[in-house]
Amino acid sequence: MERKIYADNASTTYVSSEVLNEMLPCFNTIYGNPSSLHSFGRDSAAIVDRARDRIAKAINAERSNEIYFTSGGTEANNWAIRGLAYGNRSKGNHIITSQIEHDSVLESCKQLEQEGFEVTYLPVDKNGLVSITDLIHHIKPSTILVSIMAVNNEIGTIQNIKTISNIVHENGVIFHTDAVQAIGALKMDVRDMEIDVMSMSSHKIYGPKGVGALYIKNGIKISPIMHGGSQERNKRGGTQNAPAIAGFGKAIEIAVRDLVVNQQKLKAIRSYFLDKVMEKIPYVILNGHPQQKIQGTINLSFEMVEGESLIMLLDLAGIAVSRGSACSAGSTKPSHVLKAIGLGNEVAQSSIRFSFGKSITKEEVDYIIEKLAECVEKLRGISPLTKAGRGKKE
Ligand SMILES: *Cc1c(COP(=O)(O)O)cnc(C)c1O
Repeated sequence: MERKIYADNASTTYVSSEVLNEMLPCFNTIYGNPSSLHSFGRDSAAIVDRARDRIAKAINAERSNEIYFTSGGTEANNWAIRGLAYGNRSKGNHIITSQIEHDSVLESCKQLEQEGFEVTYLPVDKNGLVSITDLIHHIKPSTILVSIMAVNNEIGTIQNIKTISNIVHENGVIFHTDAVQAIGALKMDVRDMEIDVMSMSSHKIYGPKGVGALYIKNGIKISPIMHGGSQERNKRGGTQNAPAIAGFGKAIEIAVRDLVVNQQKLKAIRSYFLDKVMEKIPYVILNGHPQQKIQGTINLSFEMVEGESLIMLLDLAGIAVSRGSACSAGSTKPSHVLKAIGLGNEVAQSSIRFSFGKSITKEEVDYIIEKLAECVEKLRGISPLTKAGRGKKE
């Protein structure tokens, strides 16, 4: 029997039917340009405003006008890092971030370094946590921005966002967080967590691809990076993608509504999966934080196995998993996240990420475990590394 199982939800998710239904009328019934003054435009603007309200409510923003739509998480991160740097340059040129951020943050920082900004990339411990002492130690008078992700996309570690934002604010610095992987997995309350600027994306939470948002607390100085019309309160030019925005608004509403139920289900799936894997397969290492983690993301190192080959064998069995970062797919460069938590190149290369979604079944998990054990054994059987004797089954 041909089977296909998707366990790569941290890369992207399907669009849920509730979300799709919300989007459909926006393609050919309510299709005006949201900026137009006529009724067609007003109808589309109402759809965009409704989504803005839903997103503001989902993250407990004080006002809906603090939500700005973008083309996704990547643009939101680019805008946050570069826009805040340019907007606050008169106060200083120093930025603090971490070594395990998404490439859209890291590459934006590298670009700023070319332009005369100074960037500190904080290391993390073996579980993927930024050290608070380290952060305090690196803040200086020229620091204008601290950007630390809420949840890491490769290993699922949750940072101590509230503690970090407290320290950042005590020093009069702006705090940005990439919450793309956090939305739907943990409660993100921008007021309680004292977040100034926050990046979000739709396609990791059962919404459409190519849309995201930046929360910008009123009063925060940020320069536009997308120049054009006066859309998004003059801060982000370009006709809003109303169908995608409508879908995103619905998706985040559902993600927050179902958060507890989904996480409870994923918690049970996670422990079942890990117990079985550890029981059936020797020399497996679980990466990430033992407690401070989201439930759906599981990063495992299979010693003496080449991760890329394992992904290919699993794919032949109909199972979709990945290395953990879509950007590093196809490249043989070890993940910067796994390197930062201290894995050697060989162990890092033997790692793959399972990311389970809300509709995974126990029966599907059983199939994954069965095939995984077969594939790992097969690869170890032909691995030159097993000649040393390790990993051989007695
Ligand atoms: C996926 C992801 C992004 C990028 O979002 P896109 O909408 O795909 O551009 C940024 N940060 C994290 C942590 C992500 O997982």
